[in-house]
Amino acid sequence: MKSIFWFRQDLRLKDNPGLVAASKASVVIPIYILENTPSDRYAMGEASLCWLHHSLKSLNESLGGKLIFFSGDPLKILQGLIKSEKAEGVYWNRCYESWRIKRDKAIKAALKKEGVTVNSENSALLWEPWEIHKKDGTPYKVFTPFYRKGCLEFDLPREPLRAPTLHLSKAKKGGSLESLKLLSKMEWEKKIVKYWNVGEKGAHQQLKKFLGHGLEYYKEGRNFPARSHISRLSPHLHFGEISPHTVWHSIKGKGPNEDCFKSELGWREFSYYLLYHFPKLPEKNFQEKFDAFPWKKRPKHLKAWQKGNTGIPMVDAAMRELWETGYMHNRSRMIVGSFLVKNLLMHWKEGEAWFWDCLVDADLASNSASWQWVAGSGADAAPYFRIFNPVTQGEKFDPDGDYIRKFIPELKKLPIPYLYAPWTAPDEVLEKAGIELGADYPEPIVDLKESREEALTALKQVS
Ligand SMILES: Cc1cc2nc3c(=O)[nH]c(=O)nc-3n(C[C@H](O)[C@H](O)[C@H](O)COP(=O)(O)OP(=O)(O)OC[C@H]3O[C@@H](n4cnc5c(N)ncnc54)[C@H](O)[C@@H]3O)c2cc1C
Repeated sequence: MKSIFWFRQDLRLKDNPGLVAASKASVVIPIYILENTPSDRYAMGEASLCWLHHSLKSLNESLGGKLIFFSGDPLKILQGLIKSEKAEGVYWNRCYESWRIKRDKAIKAALKKEGVTVNSENSALLWEPWEIHKKDGTPYKVFTPFYRKGCLEFDLPREPLRAPTLHLSKAKKGGSLESLKLLSKMEWEKKIVKYWNVGEKGAHQQLKKFLGHGLEYYKEGRNFPARSHISRLSPHLHFGEISPHTVWHSIKGKGPNEDCFKSELGWREFSYYLLYHFPKLPEKNFQEKFDAFPWKKRPKHLKAWQKGNTGIPMVDAAMRELWETGYMHNRSRMIVGSFLVKNLLMHWKEGEAWFWDCLVDADLASNSASWQWVAGSGADAAPYFRIFNPVTQGEKFDPDGDYIRKFIPELKKLPIPYLYAPWTAPDEVLEKAGIELGADYPEPIVDLKESREEALTALKQVS
C-alpha cells in the first residue's frame, strides 16, 4: 500500500507524528506543495521564501532526493497523485491559519468521499487550541491563566517521537525544488546562508549550542540584544525543523532558567491559541476601541524606520539587524514596535507587514499577536500608555554599546552616553568621532518627548 505524506510546516523527520503515522501504514510518497494563498496578505515574504528553499533542500537530502515539489491547488494536486500513484492514503500535520483549517477540512471531506484514508496529526503545538478553555468554556484572553491553569494543568507535553524507518517512493509527476522559484531575491539568499544553518540538522545544532551556552543565563541575559543568551530557534520552530516538544523536553531539569524559557514557548502557544479562537487577529484590532485611534500615514518616516535611518541609534541598530540578518532580538522588536506605533503614531499593520517580509521567523500567529501586544490593542497587551524610551532602553540593555556599534558602524567612535542620543553630543565630541549629524548619520526624525505627549493625547480619543 502507498500513502502520500504532505510536508507543510513540519520540515523534519524527528518527532513528526504525521510522518510516523504514514510510515506505519504504508510506503510513503513525500511531497511538498507551495500553496496558493487567499490573498497576498498571507503569501510568504522574501526572507521566508529564501529560508524555505534551503529548508526543503536539506529535507530532500534527508529523504534521499525523493521529495517531489508542486505548486497550486492542493486538492487537485492530491487527487491527481492519488490516481497516478495508486495511493490509498494522505497524511499531514495540522496548520492553524483559518483559511488553511477551512481548506484542509474541505480536502479531507472530498478525499474521504473518494474512499481515501486521510489522517492529520498535531506536530506544531504543545496544546491543541480547542482543548484549552476557561471553566465556563470560553477562551482565555490573558496569558498567565491560559498557560498556568489552562495548559500546564490540562496535561504536560508528550515526549518527542523518534524519526520513523521510512520506505519511500518518489512520485513520478511533479517538479524539482528549483521549479518553485523560491530564490527570487539574491540579496536575502546571501544573508541567510551567512547567518543561519537552515534545516533540521541546523535546528538541533542550534538547540545544542543554546543548552551549552545560553540557557544558564537566559532569564537575565535574554534582555540584552548584544548577548547570545537566547535560543534563536524561532525560524526553526516556525518551519517545523524542530518541534516544540523536542525543545521543551531537552531543557527539562536544566536549572533555574527552565521555567522562564518554557513560558516563552508558552507565549508561542498563546499566539496560536489567539489566532485559532480569534481568526481576524492579523487584520483587526483585538480591542475594538482601537478602531477609532487616529493613526497617521507618514511614508517618509516609515521608510526611515524600515531602513534604520530614524536618527535614534537603538531603533536604527535593531532595524538594521533585521535587514542584515532576517532576525531581530525580542527586546529590539519591542523597542522598534513602540517607536513606530507610539512615537510615529503609525498603524501596527505597517510594522507587521515589514516584519512579515523581512523576518526569517515571520509567523502569522506570533507576528500579529505580538504587534497587537506592542500596540496595546491586543489580548493581554502592554498598555498603550507604556511608551518605551529608546534612549534609556539602550542605556539599560546595551550598556557597552556593542549592539549599536555592530549595526551602525558610523557611530563606532561616539562615546557613551552620547551613543544612545547623538543629537545631545557637544560639537567637539561629534567632530572627534568623525560624525556630522544630518550627513554621516541622521538627525532624529521626531522629538522623543513631544511625540510621546502626542501619543498620550491620541490615546485619550479612544479611552
Ligand atoms: C513586534 C513583534 C513581532 C514578533 N514577530 C514574531 C514572528 O513573526 N515570529 C516569531 O516566532 N516570533 C515573533 N515575535 C516574538 C519574539 O520576538 C521571537 O519569537 C523571539 O525573539 C525569537 O527569538 P528566539 O528564538 O531567540 O527566542 P527565545 O527567547 O529563545 O524563545 C524561545 C522560543 O519561544 C517563542 N517565543 C519567545 N518569545 C515569544 C513571544 N513574545 N511571542 C511568541 N513566541 C515567543 C519563540 O518560538 C522562540 O523561538 C515577535 C515579537 C514582537 C515584539
